[in-house]
Amino acid sequence: MSLILDSCTLDVSAQLLRTEAFIEGRWVSATSTFPVFDPATGEEIAKVSDCGTKEAQDAVNAAYKAFYLWKSQTAKERSILLRKWFNLINEHKEDLAKLITAESVGILTITYRPMKESVGEMTYSASFLEWFSEEARRVYGDIVAPPAKDRKILLLKQPVGVASIITPWNFPSAMITRKVGAALAVGCTVVVKPAEDTPLSALALAELSVQAGIPPGVFNVVPCSREKTPAVGELLCTDPLVAKISFTGSTATGKVLLRHAAGTVKRVSMELGGHAPFIVFDSAEVDKAVAGAMASKFRNSGQTCVCSNRFLVQSGIHDAFMEKLAKAMDAELKVGHGSEPTTTQGPLINTRAAEKVENQIADAVAQGAVIVRGGKRLEGSFMQPTLLSSVNTDMLCMREETFGPLIPVVK
Ligand code: ADP
Repeated sequence: MSLILDSCTLDVSAQLLRTEAFIEGRWVSATSTFPVFDPATGEEIAKVSDCGTKEAQDAVNAAYKAFYLWKSQTAKERSILLRKWFNLINEHKEDLAKLITAESVGILTITYRPMKESVGEMTYSASFLEWFSEEARRVYGDIVAPPAKDRKILLLKQPVGVASIITPWNFPSAMITRKVGAALAVGCTVVVKPAEDTPLSALALAELSVQAGIPPGVFNVVPCSREKTPAVGELLCTDPLVAKISFTGSTATGKVLLRHAAGTVKRVSMELGGHAPFIVFDSAEVDKAVAGAMASKFRNSGQTCVCSNRFLVQSGIHDAFMEKLAKAMDAELKVGHGSEPTTTQGPLINTRAAEKVENQIADAVAQGAVIVRGGKRLEGSFMQPTLLSSVNTDMLCMREETFGPLIPVVK
């Protein structure tokens, strides 16, 4: 087993620590591996099978074969299996949360306690399987009034087939169950390509799918490195046996996948990057505005798709807002490892992410922005939570998603 930290170090059941691909109900080694890091320490925690197009094709073939069996099961049978999977995730919630903290250091840090919030993510993640296990039995059709007396119009809903599911690192478990729960409930089968930063959570879900009795080939996982991702992604989005693509991630990647999907006119669901504005008018209650800014910006160190990205503050309230926000940042934010109970701000997912924030700050300062708090990149992928004033809309931070703990304020 290619784990650098073993189950004792991580204090996680050995069964859930999986490092191979999961194809047709079997654990499959690829010819090479890629490293998974603890983003707080930069330490390698596991070596995971680095799947290429061969493994991806095997997974698609397996999912296609399994589709005919899975779709012919009754809705009740599928519902029962999803419910079992949900129960198993709940039983292993603590262990699964430790895996999330190890590979991504704390998700949903709205209350700024990464480990606690990883447990929160597992509750959230499991809830999708619960919901879809119930919805599985409620996929009704329709009877429509016909335009002629000798016609009847009946609408049937049928599963489309194999779905390729490509997920980001920032909700490593919930992004998978949310897509997979829906697909499996109606009789589709899936191939999941998890983010390269967080494959362990996806593989642990696969282990629990076996224990739940989900048949081989229905749920497949092909982890791969950033280097192999384009080729694997292309296969998953162009293979004629794939009927549907569901993706959450950056807009740039979404555009690539849409182009791939066009060749065979696949159905697609895209949940892409954000650039959310946070607007404060003079009439606002400043304390409430500051509390809202803290919650919406610093959740998971600024790394959720709905984190506020650009702050527009009317001139009458601007100075009071800045002063109180700076004080709130001093009082409430503590940078550290996700497993430390007092940590409110973990590291960013990798050094690339930290460089992006650092670059946005440098660009803003070069164009006249003033650093009110923070401003520096710390060791590894840690960033100081940063507040900038005198920002204008030409600056990079006002034009692209930050995905980090930076508040640029335009007066
Ligand atoms: P992020 O900024 O969250 O890393 P990405 O869009 O790069 O956003 O990544 C989201 C998911 O998309 C990850 O699973 C990543 O491996 C995958 N991905 C990135 N590039 C491609 C690609 N060219 N083809 C398929 N998947 C990709």
